[in-house]
Amino acid sequence: MSVLVVGSTALDSIKTPWRENPRLLGGSASHAAVAASFFAPVKLVGVVGEDFPRRYLALYRREGVDLAGLQIAAGKTFHWAGEYEVNMHNRRTLKTELGVFESFTPELPEKYRRTPFVLLANIAPALQHRVLDQMRRPKLIVADTMDLWLNIALEDLLTLLRRIDVFVLNDSEARQLTKENNVIRAAKKIHRLGPKYVIVKKGEHGAILSSPGGLFVSPAFPLSEVVDPTGAGDSFVGGLIGYLASRNGPIETNLKRGMIYGSVVASFCCEGFGLSRTTKITRAAIEKRVGELEKIVRF
Ligand code: AMP
Repeated sequence: MSVLVVGSTALDSIKTPWRENPRLLGGSASHAAVAASFFAPVKLVGVVGEDFPRRYLALYRREGVDLAGLQIAAGKTFHWAGEYEVNMHNRRTLKTELGVFESFTPELPEKYRRTPFVLLANIAPALQHRVLDQMRRPKLIVADTMDLWLNIALEDLLTLLRRIDVFVLNDSEARQLTKENNVIRAAKKIHRLGPKYVIVKKGEHGAILSSPGGLFVSPAFPLSEVVDPTGAGDSFVGGLIGYLASRNGPIETNLKRGMIYGSVVASFCCEGFGLSRTTKITRAAIEKRVGELEKIVRF
């Protein structure tokens, strides 16, 4: 079954202590769409400006991503710039230039509206709502967010939580949302806000699923070198929903395996700048790493 992904479609300028790369293809939707495309057909909803390089459009197409819902508007593409500290985890946002996102209203092509799996990747919650308003009875809705929306669009985010099935956020966002330091207690509080399934990401320490069936812990794939972690969270959630769309059977089992697949795609993402590594791997490489991860955690 196919997956609809809405989120940011961006140019990312990324600086690490060792290297700097301007205007790479990035954005939450780009990372998530490419990750999901290893498992299922993907339809992208987003907007780019006239400055968006054609080679990036070609790159989405090569990954099999349907671009009928990608608007090309007059103006500049969303541009984000960030800088990592030596630990390659802490990062500082240097620039967020909204460009064409400032006046973006998602309009879904008719053929998108019955897509069964919906990923509301990180973008303003009002836009996530706008996409859901146009969907016809999706089977599963997964949403991601970031601290910015907790700060400036909390009301919209809280109403969104009542419309979705799976909420994915990182541990600091979970603390900020619930005012609860303990991640398990924070997840319990988030269930009360709406989502049946809550996934708390903990970066290089993996992710925790809280669901009616209990808890599940997924490790991150241990890497000896991280080149650029930008988009790892988006790759995780993209890989997860792509895997879910490709499987029949009980949702809880699929969510657990999907988190492992998401972690593995995210690990590839961290091994290159932007999408450079993720766009070079194959499904076979993902399966191989899933096998390695299984060996590492078996006891
Ligand atoms: P992650 O590393 O998973 O947190 O995601 C990084 C991606 O988020 C980058 O590719 C950015 O383009 C994108 N991003 C950064 N700030 C925003 C924002 N305010 N809204 C939407 N996407 C953003």
